[in-house]
Amino acid sequence: MKILPVLASIALCCSMETVAENPDSKYQNFPTYAGDDLELTVGADGTRWRLWSPEAEEVELLIYPTGRNSKAEQTLKMTKADQGTWTASLPGKLYGKYYTFRIKHNGKWLKETPGVWAKAVGVNGERAAIIDFGLTDPEGWNSDKGPALKHINDAVIYEMHHRDFSEHPSSGVANKGKFLALTETGTTNPEGEATGIDHLKDLGVTHVHILPSYDYNSVDEANLQLNQYNWGYDPLNYNSPEGSYSTNPSDPSARVREMKEMVKSLHDNGIGVIMDVVYNHTADNDDSNFSLTAPGYYYRHRPDGSYSDASGCGNETASDRQQMRDFIVNSVKYWAKEYHIDGFRFDLMAIHDIETMNQVAAALKEINPDIFIYGEGWTAGDSPLPVEKRALKENVSKMPQVAVFSDDIRDAVKGHYSDASDRGFATGKPGLEETVKIGIVGSTAHPQVDYSKGNNSKFAYANAPTQIINYVSCHDDLMLTDKLRKSMPDATEAERQRAARLAQTIVFTSQGTPFMFTGEEIFRDKKGVHNSYKSPDSINAIDWNLRHANASQYEYYKELIKLRKEHPAFRMTTAEDVAKHLKFDKTEPGLVSYSLVDHANGDNYKEIKVIFNGSDESRTVKVSKADWTVIAEDGNIKADGLGSSRGGKLTVAPRSALILGRVK
Ligand code: CA
Repeated sequence: MKILPVLASIALCCSMETVAENPDSKYQNFPTYAGDDLELTVGADGTRWRLWSPEAEEVELLIYPTGRNSKAEQTLKMTKADQGTWTASLPGKLYGKYYTFRIKHNGKWLKETPGVWAKAVGVNGERAAIIDFGLTDPEGWNSDKGPALKHINDAVIYEMHHRDFSEHPSSGVANKGKFLALTETGTTNPEGEATGIDHLKDLGVTHVHILPSYDYNSVDEANLQLNQYNWGYDPLNYNSPEGSYSTNPSDPSARVREMKEMVKSLHDNGIGVIMDVVYNHTADNDDSNFSLTAPGYYYRHRPDGSYSDASGCGNETASDRQQMRDFIVNSVKYWAKEYHIDGFRFDLMAIHDIETMNQVAAALKEINPDIFIYGEGWTAGDSPLPVEKRALKENVSKMPQVAVFSDDIRDAVKGHYSDASDRGFATGKPGLEETVKIGIVGSTAHPQVDYSKGNNSKFAYANAPTQIINYVSCHDDLMLTDKLRKSMPDATEAERQRAARLAQTIVFTSQGTPFMFTGEEIFRDKKGVHNSYKSPDSINAIDWNLRHANASQYEYYKELIKLRKEHPAFRMTTAEDVAKHLKFDKTEPGLVSYSLVDHANGDNYKEIKVIFNGSDESRTVKVSKADWTVIAEDGNIKADGLGSSRGGKLTVAPRSALILGRVK
């Protein structure tokens, strides 16, 4: 584009002004504080505070007898200390007290804040609480440990919201919608079938991925009788559990203790706990705890000074700034150590920079090498962070210990997420075979996969299948049942369940880590609501009577999970192994067929043949003559075998998988 001289000079003048006024440039030179005693330390030498607030002109600390609705019983002036911090102290261990900070900025006193490091809070997270963490540990906590899996793709991840999982009367759970729901064993639906933690164990998942369980903003914890529902992607206090999931939000210790009891109970039953973390934005802008302690610093801005908004939620945080990066790293470390969390799922991870994610992974692996880190490798809007620095799916090769969700397999198998009526491979749409293959090889380089034909990605972005999370459905967008109802309007429910089986069979046999959404195994729905983040329980709560009504669907999922866990061929850990041991067959449109050969990844099967027929017609395929065990056929599956076959010309029923294995 040719710029006229006069316009060029205007552009130059404006860009100079922009540089001078860029509100973010000054933060690069701010002093940062790396000590581990930020905000509150309780010890033999008393109770001490240290707030990081480099631009504050004055700072006050207010001490309260209760978590809300009381007057400060003491107000202390904090003293300016090193590296942008302010300190204060009082004798004794002030357990049972609450506190807030208040800073003077540009001559004006801002609102009170519990700070950014409150590890316990009163109701609605208004004030930080001083509690004795030693009293919050369940019995046996010191020896508590999550499942030790060698690689992330040995995991089977089950994404759930506390209320979805146990709120419905049919759950038979006493502590409905609470952390403690996952400590109850022996619960059943009215038909006597297992629910709760027993259901998870029976299904065979290895990890639950809990939707945001830090203290979020939207649910009024003081009025739980209103039965409010929210996913929780509106962070308030990052380092304290959410109060509405505890039995008493007004008791700051209750939420801490009960969340630990949940973790302990899941661990005792062999199930790990992955937390959904949302450091990319906060619920409020100027009134967030970040803004009230260090105005401006923690966020990115546009040149005009307004909040940039890559989250689509009103702001985006600045992980590329030292104190924010340290905050994220130290926060996940805290959850891993204090709560024994086994993995972290980063919301809109590409708002964070690559360096931060690598530091997160390194810090967590040092605490526990079995911790998993994965995230959404995209943003919800543009960001001032340069594309090459973003923790994008396309940049995952620069983050060796981080995995990303494969939107490739998701959209190819069930149809595009943004178009309800769009179909995918598993529902008979032609032309998606190559993208399905991209999913099958975990987005790694493979000589038989042509990435130029990929729908969402045009190159092999993963270095290893362990960097990929495969899924067809999650809390976002239409969940699988609803998607199938909208995209197969004329089909019967049985036909849709058949399509769901095929879709999940593709996910669970693909290289990478399988991930499923709570209740899919019993064909639950959300009544067609695609963004149910604040929909009532009538939309979100799982009706566990479906466990009975859709018992055969459940058995299919259970056997599918068992198959994956028993056969390491589905869980190869390097791109080289996948390229060597996974061989695609030439097929006609509507079919995808491959073999896992030569005892892939130490499998007892010499060869596993996997054939998917996404069309609504039976297809004939030719399979080498051998003594095959039939594992899946015509919408049925049994990990140990449905029967046997001599190979040759075989029929693949419509919308189904044919899986065969041979030991020689
Ligand atoms: Ca809350």
